[in-house]
Amino acid sequence: MILTNSQYDAIMRTYEQKQLHNHRQLEQRYAEVYQKLPELKELNDTISSLSIGQARRLLEGDDTALAELKNQIKELSEEAEAMLVAGGFPVDYLELQCECADCKDTGYIGNQKCHCFQRIIIDMLYEQSNLKHILQKENFDTFSFSYYSPNYIDPETGYSSLDTIQNAYEESRKFVDTFGNEFRNLFFYGDPGVGKTFLSNCVAKELIDKSYSVVYLSSFQLFDTLTKGKFDKDEQSEKINKHLLNCDLLIIDDLGTELVNSLTVSQLFLCLNERLLHRKSTIISTNLSLDSIVDIYSERIFSRITSNYTMLKLTGDDIRIKKKLMNMEEM
Ligand SMILES: [Zn+2]
Repeated sequence: MILTNSQYDAIMRTYEQKQLHNHRQLEQRYAEVYQKLPELKELNDTISSLSIGQARRLLEGDDTALAELKNQIKELSEEAEAMLVAGGFPVDYLELQCECADCKDTGYIGNQKCHCFQRIIIDMLYEQSNLKHILQKENFDTFSFSYYSPNYIDPETGYSSLDTIQNAYEESRKFVDTFGNEFRNLFFYGDPGVGKTFLSNCVAKELIDKSYSVVYLSSFQLFDTLTKGKFDKDEQSEKINKHLLNCDLLIIDDLGTELVNSLTVSQLFLCLNERLLHRKSTIISTNLSLDSIVDIYSERIFSRITSNYTMLKLTGDDIRIKKKLMNMEEM
């Protein structure tokens, strides 16, 4: 994910605040300790002036005096530590305490962003995706084949419900594994309630955890946003529209549930086409049949989809109903 300048600045500001907070806390701890142990302050002052002397010797290149001074500082520091503990304080009480010990709350280790920085980016991606809560429940770890019957055969293809979901599952895994290297798009279609949305959520979670930006929109939300962007030329809707076209993965769920008219059809074409041109992946799921796609959205859109997307048909009994029944049996 590429951060915008303002996102980056906002993150760096929180790091600066953390550092400031850490230093203030340390100052308070020093004040507390010195009030109780004034003799420790004297000792620490001596250590400080010796350290300044050490730096001077270092510059002068006086090695013998330097070694002597080093020893002296070491001994006094040990004495100071013992004094602190004897005074009832933890041994590290006068050390700077940071939330992240690895980067000392600077966000960077050398020139590289620290893992805590990456974590902030991933959290932002979850926020932006519209999927924050659902992805805890719907992901590859919670996916189950047990809802799919080997006996429910699609008369059109001859494949069972279990066959089709196994194939779609494999393709989704492959999609995640090759993401960033191979440009691919997925199109889930078929009976309602057979796990199309669930599978796209599995993909979304894996990619967000790899720091890719994912945006999930129901078809209704997508067209609402695209149309708003067309009429309100304000900064906010332009920003949203740009994000729709530029995010690493766009998921359009339940295509066909929006109110279709000539405007939505042309907006859909533009959106899909733009993403294809920039090699940005898209996942579409729909309950519509392929025939209906042609009828509703035109041959032009249909051929864009069939020539650029992996077409995955899912069939079966309604899984939402089945899950509910199973839950009731458990009760
Ligand atoms: Zn860190």
